Amino acid sequence: MNLFRKLVFSLGVFGGAAFGGIAILDVQKEEVFLKNMRMNGLLVPSGYTYSFIRGSRYITDGSDYQAVQNAFQKWTCANSSLWAVEVPSKGDFTPGRRNGRNEIAWISPTEKEPNPWKHVLNLPNAFLAVVKVWVEPITNRVIERDLYFNDVSVRWRTGSDGEEGGFWVERVALHEIGHLFGLRDVYNPGRKGWEEWMGEGNERLAMYGYSSRWEETAAVHPLEAAAMALAYPSVPEPRSMPVFALAVAMFFITHKR
Ligand SMILES: [Zn+2]
Repeated sequence: MNLFRKLVFSLGVFGGAAFGGIAILDVQKEEVFLKNMRMNGLLVPSGYTYSFIRGSRYITDGSDYQAVQNAFQKWTCANSSLWAVEVPSKGDFTPGRRNGRNEIAWISPTEKEPNPWKHVLNLPNAFLAVVKVWVEPITNRVIERDLYFNDVSVRWRTGSDGEEGGFWVERVALHEIGHLFGLRDVYNPGRKGWEEWMGEGNERLAMYGYSSRWEETAAVHPLEAAAMALAYPSVPEPRSMPVFALAVAMFFITHKR
């Protein structure tokens, strides 16, 4: 049954953050850097049609949804080939399962399952969020991309709602959406996952693999915009045009949950 390669990209919790000086990346390394920022060999469609299933249990004013929208917008503004449109959710949502739809959801405790993050998705409590990608064998084409936020062991906040000390939704969403569009994690020297091409001074990138709970900003770095520009236009989303027409109209309807 499991014909499809699954990939999970995560954003870890970073305990003691102090983002001081911004190091400037070595210009000679830049092109290699931009190429390496792409997920290796994957064909990632530049369009993303998704359903928003549910937000955080810590946020009731809809600002979690809005923060995700803002994060999408920051990427689509950074590169005009990228687009994301929301469609209504249909049928059952089962976290971690491939079902032919792209879904975005906070994974919260339920009466039956106090920790679905760990016991359904098999993810560590220290992961803030993950993007799960299903890849078609042989073609290496990405066919489904889900985004899950950890609403079990992680608290969340936005500018208008949420828990004190919670993580900034837009920052984490921006990072994960970078994965949805095919970028990979970048680290600084000394961190697990660091590779030589990454160099140093990467903490200002949206794709930097750690977030602290004190961060309150979210921005696409010019280097990341350049990495996207190098990669797109690439693979058109199948069936995208009719969905796109429908979804553009839906944009004007207030989102209800
Ligand atoms: Zn990541």
